[in-house]
Amino acid sequence: MLTRRLFCGCLAGGLSLAATAVHAQTQECAVFTPDRQKSTAPDDSIARLKAGNERFVAGKSINCDLMAQVKQTASGQAPHAAIVGCIDSRVPPELVFDQRIGDVFCARVAGNILNLDIIGSLEYSTKVAGAKSIVILGHNSCGAIKSAVDNVKLGNITALLKNFQPALATLTKADGLRDAHNDALVQKVAEANAKLTAASLVKRSPIIKALVDAKQVKIVAAMHDITTGKVTWLS
Ligand SMILES: [Zn+2]
Repeated sequence: MLTRRLFCGCLAGGLSLAATAVHAQTQECAVFTPDRQKSTAPDDSIARLKAGNERFVAGKSINCDLMAQVKQTASGQAPHAAIVGCIDSRVPPELVFDQRIGDVFCARVAGNILNLDIIGSLEYSTKVAGAKSIVILGHNSCGAIKSAVDNVKLGNITALLKNFQPALATLTKADGLRDAHNDALVQKVAEANAKLTAASLVKRSPIIKALVDAKQVKIVAAMHDITTGKVTWLS
């Protein structure tokens, strides 16, 4: 009898856990609507990305019906976040944050820098389309950062690498040899680049500054680790 009661208790507990998991998955697969976007605070948006990366790292990314989401978002989008990431094939923002169709705007450029077109895109993402957070996502072993450290001169890459001057300016003698093989130095420049890029956005965009001042948008810098999949939040 005791065994039976225990068994029934466990089974009921198991079923309710399974039901909770299904409920969480159903919630997560619901596409962002204008109402849902409106009720998402900037901190909620960042919390969603944090939770998504935790699922990704744990191998528990949610498997949604993407074609259903395509249909549900066809008449309009209301993403909760905008992400500026590197072009690196190992750092696809939607995958590392476990986000899906209609969830996030993504701008990708080598070394996750800002230029006028990307700032314009972020102004569109937030002021026009209502996104609540902006993430500047750097990563370790970044080829663009390594090229900047080595002062590479090649075609249009030369001009691109000028964007890393402020981050390179944070280096001191204590950082050792300025060489792309100096992993700690490359990491320092990559982190400085993500932070400085995030901090520069409000100086370069009065529209985004006004949204940040009104607490309608939050800007954060983060670093993705290509060896673990984990995102570390810098600000
Ligand atoms: Zn990169």
